[in-house]
Amino acid sequence: MFEYDIPIESFREKISEQIRKNQFIRYKIIGYSHCKRKIESFTFGEKGKKILLAGCFHGLEWITYFVLVKFIEEIIEKKFEIKNRITIIPCVNPDGVEISLKGAEYAGIYKNLVKKIGNEKWQSNARGVDINHNFDAGWKKLRELEKKNNITGPSNTRYGGEFPESEPETQAIVNLCNSEKFDLAFAFHSQGEEIYWHYGDKTPEESFEIAKKIADLTGYRISSPEGLAVGGGFKDWFIEKFQKPGFTIEIGKGENPLPIDELNNIYSVLKSTLTASVSE
Ligand SMILES: [Zn+2]
Repeated sequence: MFEYDIPIESFREKISEQIRKNQFIRYKIIGYSHCKRKIESFTFGEKGKKILLAGCFHGLEWITYFVLVKFIEEIIEKKFEIKNRITIIPCVNPDGVEISLKGAEYAGIYKNLVKKIGNEKWQSNARGVDINHNFDAGWKKLRELEKKNNITGPSNTRYGGEFPESEPETQAIVNLCNSEKFDLAFAFHSQGEEIYWHYGDKTPEESFEIAKKIADLTGYRISSPEGLAVGGGFKDWFIEKFQKPGFTIEIGKGENPLPIDELNNIYSVLKSTLTASVSE
């Protein structure tokens, strides 16, 4: 049904419009990026568990957007029985995606900043804050680690911002979670074929069982983060704040950005997990 196309911004507009035509999907703009790009959510299903799936926290990881859109496409085509209430945010960091694909000119008022840093391997938002270091979970400790690694200000990656939740992209998803009270959340990143399930002593007991199930379905490895990957992330915040299972899933394998040609392979591996989130 959809024609997958890399110039993401125009594709996003076109796809959002097509998806919105479908009456059984509920569409919401949950916020705007620094450059006023929409951060959108698509919700379907009424009952059961409330589950969040979110992608593109990082600019270079735009393949996660396509995976989630492909999943929406199959939902629209009614390929699964829907037993849960699923919310999908395909792109948390739309500015980062545009900058990583097309360069500093797409960073709005921050284009000189991005030029100065260099847009190569761009993971952050337009202001040079890494969204997945900006959540309010172990943020201060992470800040210290960033400094030790010479990350002291806006950067293409791993700078956590001036204070937790300083960024509109972070606030958009935080606000949504605070109002929706999801039972489960999955953050999609690339790459590594890994599942992260643990953060601190509030990690629920069932988290590991769910991680194991996903590992069985996908062949992905269950992992524990280290160093600069501990804290500040969405799944960390979600676990700490709600004491509900939250996961980071690193999809695919290779060097970011993973090529769009990998989409079908990655999707076929993840499909059983995505289907389980809808139907079980
Ligand atoms: Zn990532």
